[in-house]
Order: sequence, then structure tokens, then C-alpha cells
Amino acid sequence: MSKKLTSRAEDYSKWYNELVVKADLAENSAVRGCMVIKPYGYAIWEKMQAELDKKFKETGHQNAYFPLFVPKSLFEAEEKNAEGFAKECAVVTHYRLQNDPDKPGKLRVDPNAKLEEELVVRPTSEAIIWNTYRNWIQSYRDLPILVNQWANVVRWEMRTRLFLRTAEFLWQEGHTAHATKAEAIVEAEQMNNVYANFVENFMAIPVIQGLKTESERFAGAEETYCIEALMQDGKALQAGTSHFLGQNFAKAFDVKFANKEGKQDYVWATSWGVSTRLMGALIMTHSDDNGLVLPPNLAPNQVVIVPIYKSEEQLAAITEVVNGIVNDLRAKSISVKFDNRDTLRPGAKFAQHELQGVPLRIAIGARDLENGTVELARRDTLTKEVVPLDGLIDKVEGLMTEIQESLFNKALDFRNTHITKVDTFEEFKTVLETKTGFISAHWDGTAETEDKIKELTKATIRCVPLNQEEENGLCVYSGAPSKGRVLFAKAY
Ligand code: AMP
Repeated sequence: MSKKLTSRAEDYSKWYNELVVKADLAENSAVRGCMVIKPYGYAIWEKMQAELDKKFKETGHQNAYFPLFVPKSLFEAEEKNAEGFAKECAVVTHYRLQNDPDKPGKLRVDPNAKLEEELVVRPTSEAIIWNTYRNWIQSYRDLPILVNQWANVVRWEMRTRLFLRTAEFLWQEGHTAHATKAEAIVEAEQMNNVYANFVENFMAIPVIQGLKTESERFAGAEETYCIEALMQDGKALQAGTSHFLGQNFAKAFDVKFANKEGKQDYVWATSWGVSTRLMGALIMTHSDDNGLVLPPNLAPNQVVIVPIYKSEEQLAAITEVVNGIVNDLRAKSISVKFDNRDTLRPGAKFAQHELQGVPLRIAIGARDLENGTVELARRDTLTKEVVPLDGLIDKVEGLMTEIQESLFNKALDFRNTHITKVDTFEEFKTVLETKTGFISAHWDGTAETEDKIKELTKATIRCVPLNQEEENGLCVYSGAPSKGRVLFAKAY
């Protein structure tokens, strides 16, 4: 077994990086800022995908696929969007390599193979999609269009971290077209709800739903809805976004439709996305100094069974009992792995499954067979108990729910005790340094104040929470009147 992880208290960021690699989730690649997602990490991502995909389809969406490349002229069309992403774009200029005449064995770009029009590698797909929608939409009968795409995108980020911020990342992006403004807003809100619901119930991560301020808004959006989560180190993480795009893209790409009265109008749009960043959220919310902790709903193996034996005969007897347990668990849709590798000792297997966050471990030895018992070990609480084989399946089924709920409640407790209301800027700074987490404070609504606070404290407005009561107050920085509190935090 490789040596223990750096503890969170010692160096949170080092702990995170070590955990991602040692739990076999992902690793850095030969390409700066781009990661290799390893099979175990990918299996978790696939579980997220499957559940989200189901939720998208239940809300009437269909999947489609659009090109990786966006011709520069299309990319430029929606100016704000183009301007917002320009600094992070990878651009294809040539389509061929040739042998380098000056350097044997080396290749160079063929100067005669320059593209007539440069191609932007999509940082997001509104441009290519709205250029396509122009041909799909003539009348109100063609609306709404409710499409999602699972894809990779590239944003040339300067400071990258595995999963949290990579230059290439996997995500889904929904792109919908509507006949009315009201309908598009309902869609943007609905998808933010879908995200909140998924992240809370599936990932066991509590989130706050809110609106982004203008300076944090998606480039080209009229309104950005978001879900914000709090990591164990007290920093916030934007876990998902849903944008009401108004008619901006329809105007840029001339997408009009004939409404019921026969009048031409521009189409209303939304887009929404979550990415492999959610893997980072998962790790940073639940994991501990022993490694990954996975909520049962996302664990590739919810249960692992480790046999403890001294002879082949013992293994054979244990295997017979285990086969029965495996069948019964699978019949209840609980995923289980019988770890009967003979290349590792039980202790090493325990350590690996602990590091990889398997929610429940069952150990069975020769004595257990005699007693009709097994040993259960919970990953989340690191507690063990010996339980009778009789009733084991129900016990495990119950524990799956209990662990899922207990992880959520623990994270919720942490989040709730890390939202501090402050009314003065002195308090604001103290809380930020000593307590971390979200700071709930009045803000005067101006970008100047927002910028100033960011400059002085590195804290940004994570969101203006939805569904909060109106409360008159004074801006914590400028003293100007404010109608409600917003949430500030240092963020990933
Ligand atoms: P956006 O299109 O900017 O609203 O982002 C959509 C989703 O992708 C959000 O949930 C972001 O948190 C996430 N995201 C943005 N940039 C990155 C990145 N570099 N790596 C991973 N996820 C990202």
C-alpha cells in the first residue's frame, strides 16, 4: 500500500490532488491542463450522466450532437458571448502536417494547408447550434426545441485543477428554443431545479439556488441561474448553471418564427450545463483523510465483499455463501463486487476499498461461517459491526438509504453552520479569515462595490439566493440602501 494521504488539515489542496490520483479517479496527461479520467473515475461520471440523462428525458428533452469546431465568423456573431470566451479559445488554423525539410524525423504544419476560415474549438456551442436552429425553425409549430448534447469543450484555462477546472472538460449542454419569453424563463428555472434536485438527492450535496450578478453572468445571457455548493475547506463551488439567453442568439443568427398571428418574431433561448467539475464537488464535499467517500447512489460498487480464508476449502465454503448474498443483493439492484483476488491480502483490499470510497464492506471469514454472521464496515462513519447472515440483505438495503441521507445531512449541517450574516465590513473580513464559508451580507447592487470587495478580500458574490425574504438594509461596503442579502465567498 502506498503511504497515507496528506491530511486535509495539513494541506487541503495537496490532499485533494493526492486523493484524485490515489483513488484512481484521474491523472494529469501529456497535454497541459487536460486530464485522463481513469476507469474508476469514469464509472462515477457515467452514473451521474445516466441519472441526469434520465431527468432530461423526463422533462421532454432529446439528445443530439453538433460539431466540435465553430467557424470563426459564426463564433463572432453574438458579440458578448464571443468577447467573453475569446481569451480562452483554442483555434485551428491548418489541416495538414508535412515532413520538416530542416529537421529529419520531425513534422511541421504544411504552410499550403492553411484553412480558409479559422475554426474555434467550441468553448460552448450556442453559436453552432443557433446557426443550425435557423434552418429548423419557421413557425410556432416548430417550437419548442428541447435539445441536449453530451460533449467535450475546451476553455484554455490558465490555472487548472483535476476535475475542478480543466482546459478540456466533459459536460452536457442543453440548448432550447421557445416562442415566448415566459416559456424560456420557466425552462431555465426548471433546469436549475433539475440540477439542484440531482446534486442534492443523488450526490448528497446541499446547494443554494440563486442568480448570478451581472459580472458573474454567462457571456451573452440575460440571466444566469446557478447552484452553489460549499466545500469542506469553506470555499464555494459553482456546481451548475442555467441561462436565460433572451433573444440574443436569435438576433445574432437571425432565427425568426411566424407566431400564431402570423407575425415574425425572434425566438427565445436557454442553455444549461453541468460538467466533470461535479466530480470535484463530490470529492471535496464528502471525502476524508482516508480517501474518497461515495454516496451509495453514485458508487460504482455499493458493496464489496472480502473473504478471509486460510485454505482453498475455506474459500470454497465462503464463496458458496457469498454467491447467495451477491444474487440477493443484485435482485435488489444493489451493485456488489466479490473481491476474491488471491494476489492481495484482506488488509490491502480493505485499504483500497476505503481509499476508493466503497460505501459498505462485508468481510466473511471461517468463524463467521460457523456463527452465521458477517462483519459490516461503513465507509462514511468508519464503524464496524458483526451482524447475522439472517436478515443481511434487508440490513444492507436499509444502510444504503441511511448512508445516503447521513452524508447529505452532514454536509447540510456543515453548510448551514458556515453561512454567517454580517452587517459591517470589519466583520466581513474577520469571518472570511477565521470561519470561511458563505457570508450573507447586504450589497448595493453595483458592479463597483462588487469589484472593490473582490479586490480587497478575494471574495465574490456567489449568488443572489432565490426565494429569500425581502429585507431592507445597508450595503456592507458602501452603506447605500439594499433590498436583500447576497452570498459572498471565496470560490474555486
Ligand atoms: P458555463 O457554460 O460557463 O455556464 O459553465 C457550465 C458548467 O461548466 C458550470 O457548471 C461550470 O461550473 C462548469 N465549468 C466551467 N468551466 C469549467 C472548467 N474549466 N472545467 C470544468 N468545469 C467547468
